[in-house]
Amino acid sequence: MMYKIISMQKKHMDHMVLVNLGKQGLDEHNLPFGYATVDKPFKQGDTLYQVAIGSATSENHWKAFQINRGKHVIDSVIEGINHDCDPSVYFEPIFSKEGKMLAVNVIARRDINPIQNRRPDNMKDVITFNYLTNEVAMDADFSCSCQTCTKSGKPPNRIHGMSDMKFLKLAALLKDQLPEDKEKWMPQVLLHLKDRAADIIKQLFKGADKQA
Ligand SMILES: [Zn+2]
Repeated sequence: MMYKIISMQKKHMDHMVLVNLGKQGLDEHNLPFGYATVDKPFKQGDTLYQVAIGSATSENHWKAFQINRGKHVIDSVIEGINHDCDPSVYFEPIFSKEGKMLAVNVIARRDINPIQNRRPDNMKDVITFNYLTNEVAMDADFSCSCQTCTKSGKPPNRIHGMSDMKFLKLAALLKDQLPEDKEKWMPQVLLHLKDRAADIIKQLFKGADKQA
């Protein structure tokens, strides 16, 4: 089936730059060929880019990113952001007074500088986000070859989505990589955690009513 977006307005922050778009994989120094960068320095907490949400689709797609339960959006800039297990950015939803999602901001997790040349010492500045802190269940899973996994020397993480992770491991990851203020978390992340916690309680008290 063809993927179809009915209408989507987009506001560029005009500072995101995609390098070698479409060229995938790592070079001989384990540096990605294709990556997203910025054309000016950003401080931790700054907004690098904003996606204005016109309309979303319920259909998942490998190019899409998730914005709510069962809602996905394809954005030409977000599409160029690779996964990393220790990412440089995260997503923050912007709501209207009535609670309607208006936009998603891309926020710096640390200071980020523009990348002039692909060198091992500046690749921490690549714009990356952790798919495991945003996607419930991705269209396709993969064995992680991000810079963090490659450098760690440990077996690579399997990246599929939050639903694939052990609850406590997921909760620890979200606490570590997302802001302290839960209102800044994407709605599908909060909903997923709530569902998983409810499931655990249900399992724990299974049969308890018979004893009463
Ligand atoms: Zn990784």
